Amino acid sequence: MTQRHLLFLVDGMRPDGLQQARTPVMDQLMATGAWTLDARTVMPSVTLPCIMSLFQSRSPDRHGVTTNTFVGDGIEAGLIEVMAAAGHSVSSFYNWEQLRDLSRPGALRTALYLNNGHGPEGQGDLELTQAAVDALRRDPVDLAFIYLGYTDVAGHDHGWMSAPYIAAIENADRCIGVALEALPDYAMVITADHGGHERAHGTDRDEDMRVPVIIHGHPTLNGGRQLPAPVSILDIAPTLVDWHGVPVPEHWMGHPITGG
Ligand SMILES: [Zn+2]
Repeated sequence: MTQRHLLFLVDGMRPDGLQQARTPVMDQLMATGAWTLDARTVMPSVTLPCIMSLFQSRSPDRHGVTTNTFVGDGIEAGLIEVMAAAGHSVSSFYNWEQLRDLSRPGALRTALYLNNGHGPEGQGDLELTQAAVDALRRDPVDLAFIYLGYTDVAGHDHGWMSAPYIAAIENADRCIGVALEALPDYAMVITADHGGHERAHGTDRDEDMRVPVIIHGHPTLNGGRQLPAPVSILDIAPTLVDWHGVPVPEHWMGHPITGG
């Protein structure tokens, strides 16, 4: 059975920020799906290295992207290429332009970049989500990646765990709700690339390294169960390809997430 998936990445969303914010949509997905508020990202806890690690299932020292400037020397087949090679369609929607380098030419069905990640007040994230939803209703795919950038912007501008940062998480929750309502037949994985502290991230401090992972629509990871530690962002790509019945490449470092 083919199942369609949405992978949401909320940039810089701390687990305790998610807990503090009013997030009825993610709360409901956690209550019926599976989740952890104690997953780990990789060092350096910086956006492009971390998202590359999510898609490549390899640490930055192996894929070679250690700053927000892309270098392609260490890039191998990642989530998008492996899915495409197995005959699955993948589309990508994002409002941070560096993410155009997440996959190599020839793998994506659709890519949409909107230069609106700076808001205001998360309006760009809502616009991007609506554009993604419109595209996916016209042209459903097996895996769609939706990246929401404003939470990180609010953290840098106002501080992690500040009122505007918490409001940005609540806005991301509304975005996920828009997608859930419009695309009810998609399973979901929701996570973050890193956390943050004060007005920055990038260190190995717990506030920077801990991220949430929420899985919804999985045949066995459900019922509101808490995923046992350790879960890494390196495990997300293996979980998604395994869910589609595609073998996990040997050079990937992560493993499909299981219930324990
Ligand atoms: Zn980030």
